[in-house]
Amino acid sequence: CAFSGLAFAKTYVVGTSAGFPPFEYVDENGDVVGFDVDLVKAIGELKGFDVEVKDISFDSLPAALKTGNIDMIAAGMTITTEREKVLDFSQPYWTANQSIIVTEDAQEGLTLLFGDHDIGVQTGTTGDIWVTDNIKEKGILTGKVAHYDTFVLVVSDLINGNLDGVVLDTPVAESYAAQKPVKVVAEIVTGEEYGIAVDEGNTELLDLINEGIDELKANGKMDELITKYFK
Ligand code: GLN
Repeated sequence: CAFSGLAFAKTYVVGTSAGFPPFEYVDENGDVVGFDVDLVKAIGELKGFDVEVKDISFDSLPAALKTGNIDMIAAGMTITTEREKVLDFSQPYWTANQSIIVTEDAQEGLTLLFGDHDIGVQTGTTGDIWVTDNIKEKGILTGKVAHYDTFVLVVSDLINGNLDGVVLDTPVAESYAAQKPVKVVAEIVTGEEYGIAVDEGNTELLDLINEGIDELKANGKMDELITKYFK
């Protein structure tokens, strides 16, 4: 009988924002893939749940968690004290800094942050917050900080000549530089750590995620994922 002894695995909805290669991006078939997607799937396999991935703008992810539209965020999201006020994070699974990218033929580097330059960011990211708080609000940058919903749009506006530079996470900057006519010209050492986020107090799911990360590190699967996406 089809129903006897069958345990139906729970499905958790994972929110991500697919302009963040190689952590999450849309492949040639239109599927959302990447390191984070494989990571949550691998955790689910070990801990007995299925995952469904929802692609939404980065800035909307915390609200989607609050309204119950998603159960967790896997989006290269940096663990910050501000975010920890409303979300609970897993143990860190990645460390990163910020970088500045420019078009391939551009001359300037860090000087882009001074004076009349237009800098693009993805709304709500640590790069956005860093540029706004440390550079724009202090009057160091007199040009604009242009906000976009996804890095796909920021990078295409850079290539189209509408921006002088873009600030984004270093591993993602390097990934774009490998695929598009852009280059990394400077790094801003922010020492960020990425975690998977759940709604505040959802210890049941958070425990599964943390155990899963531990097990993936111990069984070699984490190293396999790193090799798949970063080597
Ligand atoms: N790590 C950065 C942050 O948390 C950027 C993440 C992203 O754009 N997906 O803000």
